Formats: sequence, C-alpha cells, structure tokens
Amino acid sequence: MATKLLLTFAICRLIVTVGLTLDPTELLLLGVDAQLSVDPTDVKAASLDFGLLTGAQPPLAVMHPASSQDVAQLVKAAYGSNFGFTVSARGHGHSINGQAQTANGVVVQMSGSIGGSGVASGRKPPYPRVWPQERFVDVWGGELWIDVLRSTLQHGLAPKSWTDYLYLSVGGTLSNAGISGQAFNHGPQISNVHELDVVTGKGELLTCSEEQNSEMFHAVLGGLGQFGIITRARISLEPAPQRVRWIRVLYSNFSTFTRDQEYLISLHEQPASQKFDYVEGFVIVDEGLINNWRSSFFSPHNPVKISSLEPNGGVLYCLEIAKNYHESTASTIDQEVESLLKKLNFIPASVFTTDMPYVDFLDRVHKAELKLRSKGLWEVPHPWLNLFVPKSKIADFDKGVFKGILGNKTSGPILIYPMNKNKWDHRSSAVTPDEDVFYLVALLRSALDNGEETHSLEYLTNQNRQILRFCDEAGITVKQYLPHYTTHQEWVDHFRNKWDRFYRLKMEFDPRHILASGQQIFTPTN
Ligand code: FAD
Repeated sequence: MATKLLLTFAICRLIVTVGLTLDPTELLLLGVDAQLSVDPTDVKAASLDFGLLTGAQPPLAVMHPASSQDVAQLVKAAYGSNFGFTVSARGHGHSINGQAQTANGVVVQMSGSIGGSGVASGRKPPYPRVWPQERFVDVWGGELWIDVLRSTLQHGLAPKSWTDYLYLSVGGTLSNAGISGQAFNHGPQISNVHELDVVTGKGELLTCSEEQNSEMFHAVLGGLGQFGIITRARISLEPAPQRVRWIRVLYSNFSTFTRDQEYLISLHEQPASQKFDYVEGFVIVDEGLINNWRSSFFSPHNPVKISSLEPNGGVLYCLEIAKNYHESTASTIDQEVESLLKKLNFIPASVFTTDMPYVDFLDRVHKAELKLRSKGLWEVPHPWLNLFVPKSKIADFDKGVFKGILGNKTSGPILIYPMNKNKWDHRSSAVTPDEDVFYLVALLRSALDNGEETHSLEYLTNQNRQILRFCDEAGITVKQYLPHYTTHQEWVDHFRNKWDRFYRLKMEFDPRHILASGQQIFTPTN
C-alpha cells in the first residue's frame, strides 16, 4: 500500500509539473509494486550519463521495477493517459548524448533493480537462469554483462560476443549492437540472442524470437529502444575458455596493418585452432598514447620507444589479437599462435604478449576505469565518436583523419577493427555500411578542463564535426554507431532503406512515441 501511495504521489507531481489532469484514483488501480521515486538522488543519477555532454535532464520520477509487469503497468499508464508522459529505460547510463534520459517523464532504472547486482524483491524473477544443456541464459534486461558472465561461469559457460567493457546493461547494448573483437567471428551481441521479453509502447508484454512475433524481435535488436523495453533476453552460450593469450604487434604502414586485420577476419569459417578469437586494433598518433589507459600492457615491462619504430607520417597502428584456450590444451597454444603470427607482416621486434585468465581479459577495461576514477579522470565529458567505415574507404579515412585532422594529439584511445557484414542479421534495426567488410573506428576521447586548448570539449566537439564533414565531402559513406542526430532528415538518411520499416513498426508498437525519447528520433505526442 505504501508503494502505491508513493506511486500516486509521484505521478500526481508529474501531472502538476506538466500541467495536465488525471484522476489520482485511476493510478491507485495500477497496482505497481515497484518504487516510483522522486528522491533527488535518484532523479539526479537518472539525469546524467557517461557523456556528460547534454547537461542534466532531470526526469519527473524514477522507477525501480521489481518485474516486467511493473514496467508494463507504467507504460500502459503513460499510453492510456490523457496527458502523455514519456518513459525511458535506463540501463547503466553509459550513453554519450542523453539517449537514456527524458525530461518529460519517468526513467525506468533497469540496472540494479533486479538480478545478480540488484535488490531482492518479493516478485524477483529467477534471473540469471542458465540452461546448461541448451547453452543459453535468461537474464533481466537491466543485468550488467559482468554479472551475466559471473553467473554463466558457474556452469563453465560464457556468452560468445562481448563489448570491451562489461559494466553495460544487456538491454542497453542490445538496443545498439554490442561489438568487440569477437564480432568478426560470432557477429555482434544482437546476433547471439534467441528470445526477448519486451514491453511495447502500449504497455503490452510480448515474447519474441525468430519464430514468435519475429518482426518485433528483429526491430528491437539494434532498435535504439524505440519499440519496447527489453525485460528479459535469452543469450547464446559456449563452453567458457579458461585463459587467454593476448598479443599486440605494431605496424608503421597502414595498408599492411589493414591487410593483416582483413586476413585475420577472413578466417572466421576456419576451425578454432586456425584463427584468433579476438581481433581489434588501435591507432597511436602520439607517444603519450602508448602508455594510455587501454595500452597499459606495453609498460612498465615492455617500454616502447616509438621514435625507434620509424612511424610513417607520425602514426603507428597496433594490431591486438587474442587466442582463448583451456588449460587442458595449453600445450598446443604456443604452436597455434606462432603459425598464425607467421602469416602477418608487423614490425618484427614489436611483439608484446601476455597471458591471463579469461575473466581478467574480458574485464580489462574495468581496471583502467578504476585507475582513471582514482585520478578524477572518469567523470569528465566524453565527446565520443563511433563510426562504421566501409573497407573500400578506410585508407582515405586514414589519410584524412589519422594523418590529417587529428594532428598529433588524440585525447584518448582510437580503436580500429574490421568486421564481416555476413555476421550481422540484415533484419535487425542496426545500420552498417553496404560492404562485406567494414571497420569500426572509435574515437574515445575525454575532454579536460586543464587550460590546454586541444583537450577542451569545444575543440574535440569541433574536431568531431570536422571529421564528419570530411567524410561527407570525400564520399566516405560512414554510418554512426551509437548514432546521435537531432533532425528528422538525418535519421531518415541514417536508416536509409530501413527507415520505412522502422517508422511503420514505431507506429505499430509505440504509436504515442512514449519510449526512449532521448534518442531524438520521434517527438512524443500528447
Ligand atoms: P543506457 O545508456 O542506459 O541506454 C542506452 C539506450 O538504450 C537508451 O536509449 C535507453 O533508453 C535504451 N535502453 C536501455 N535499456 C534498455 C532496455 N532494457 N530495453 C530497451 N531499451 C533500453 N559499445 C559496444 O558495442 N562495444 C564496446 O566495446 C563498448 N564499450 C564501451 C565502453 C564504455 C566505457 C562506455 C561508456 C560505453 C561503451 N559502449 C560500447 C557503448 C555502450 O554499448 C552503449 O552506450 C550502451 O547503450 C550502454 O549501455 P547502458 O546499459 O549504459 O545503456
């Protein structure tokens, strides 16, 4: 009863705030067991994201759901009400441009509400639930990937496709794609899902898969939260490796670097022993970066003098590869790695190898996070730009951006790695370039207020604009990953031949544009 009163209070406040009327007794009928909070701490947390670019966008209230039904009842109330408030799911709030925020409604705080990392509740579903025979796991939509990993490892299993960082929610990454160095082989995370439970913008709870409500299933994957709130995902698993041989090699020649990367991802159909399990890479445009937060394993044991490597045009490229193994096959790992490395053309003296438990490898960015946090460098603005660049234009991109626009200061890691388009399901809502192979280029920069112009938010934001303009003028048809646009036409151009279906399904599943309005694709209707 107390929670119902709290809910009534919060929604009444919401009504007063938006200046509309609703009979509060209607709300008592909602029967939501979740906490709808207007506590300033909750509201503040939900008003910010990792990007810290948009300024605080306080929601009117924050819901901590105890079940899918809570989410459904809230969305149903929004859909059926005369005044129309919005509802945005928030996973771990690691978006850059306010995508999980809403100033005109309720944020549903999915992560930390239920599940491995969350609070217990009388109606807590039994998640994560691992099905060892079938090799999949059912997880709550707000579950963090680190907790998914911990629970599946208890059964000797693990998901196949990852992001570089595991403190992201399942619903958040599945709304985008979820990519890392395994994507060339297994596809993005959205290619490794069997089934979803989704609350539509009408407040209906639907189960969807390839076989059931398949249009909804494909639309939600990569759907930027537009069609429904994912409350459960059934994720494909494989036997978990125990250890990882993690290798970095350097190149001074871009075309040699990309040729090797493309060769390695072309091995995706080969038996496991004849390919790497992870292929990524990054660009080094200044010496400082060799010791940056992602490349800590170059130092202190392997100090590198870039000047001794004669970078071409001041830029070096680092191929990052990894091979998973089980302790029982440890005797063959050296040989397998050796025979793969023999086919590559990196700078001979530049091989840096380390070996570690699988979990430590997957959780590597978290270590860097802790270091940055301790120096006060984590909660700073992040004007990140993530682009998919078609293979045919990646050399033009190198010339114009890495060796041109960036100068010799980058303010953060720049990842670059190719993926195979045939590992992406064309029916999903995710958008990629029209070529069999395309690259992720991720400019993961942090803005600092340290008086240096090249570190400032304004400088980096302008540089991002310059990069997009350059691509446009040079005919490099990039697609933004984790896209951010503010006009209708930009969104139509982004989705191109997927737009008509995207629009039609939006009208079907969220006709009042209640959901994920922070993406700025559709304007909520009152
Ligand atoms: P949020 O920011 O909370 O939400 C993102 C969007 O998804 C919002 O529109 C929100 O409304 C919607 N949403 C959230 N939960 C749900 C749900 N349950 N159902 C429906 N919609 C929902 N991405 C990669 O692919 N690979 C990487 O290696 C990678 N590394 C990263 C490292 C860091 C340090 C950071 C900050 C981000 C990284 N990302 C990476 C990007 C990340 O995948 C996206 O920002 C993702 O959206 C973050 O998940 P989240 O749970 O924080 O989502």
